[in-house]
Amino acid sequence: MHRFFISPDQFNQDNPVVRGPDVQHMVKVLRLKPGDPVEILDGAGRAARAVIHSLGKDEVTCRKIEEFNPGGEPPLKVILVQGLAKGEKMDLTIQKCTELGVSGIIPTICHRSVVRLEGGKSSEKQVRWQRVAMEAAKQCRRPAVPGVSAPQKLGQVLASIPEGAAAYMPWEDEKNRSLREALPPDSPGTVYIFIGPEGGFESHEVEEARQRGVITVSLGPRILRTETAGPVCVALVMHKWGDLG
Ligand code: SAH
Repeated sequence: MHRFFISPDQFNQDNPVVRGPDVQHMVKVLRLKPGDPVEILDGAGRAARAVIHSLGKDEVTCRKIEEFNPGGEPPLKVILVQGLAKGEKMDLTIQKCTELGVSGIIPTICHRSVVRLEGGKSSEKQVRWQRVAMEAAKQCRRPAVPGVSAPQKLGQVLASIPEGAAAYMPWEDEKNRSLREALPPDSPGTVYIFIGPEGGFESHEVEEARQRGVITVSLGPRILRTETAGPVCVALVMHKWGDLG
């Protein structure tokens, strides 16, 4: 069954409209016709069966038949706080972590982030990253698309960790505690994972995080690249408390 993401506003309509690049795909590639069945998703976890009503140049109108529970969303909310790294690494991390089930990704400006996003660059990047997440969600048949926020400063992110969430910061200089040892038996429900950029975190950033209740952990004796460390941590917590494995 072909699936399409539409805005939550459109999803609420009886005759939801698909716009954007999907239209061309529906008309030219899939050659959908009125009456053909499709599935529509609002990107936040809701899904409905629908049929094509009419196809135009810029939009396709559907008729909603019934909502259904698409499943496929993990019982654990994981937020990846990813130190801003070079372009292709961010794309890779966002793609892989979407497949693994993250709920959100916060690109984070760290002291050693070499990438500088001046002015409009930041929102341009956010749009691009959000599209990477949507493509990955489509491909892996996830009903929800993780939100990718605009880049934020590490301090801002640390100040916004919600009460009750567990927060871990893999740090290669942590010698006393592995991630395995740090994870309690019961799920905290929400987990924040802080990954440094290519050059890692500065010790004052690690200190600031600890003061905010973030637990520093080791991932083992080998130094993983930043684009490896994020997906690995997400996989490990999803395996323990989520639905992976
Ligand atoms: N500063 C390091 C590399 C940083 S790796 C160096 O150049 O030697 C990028 C990020 O991945 C780190 O900030 C950390 O969050 C995570 N990471 C990679 N390997 C790790 C390990 N073995 N233990 C804990 N964290 C690790």
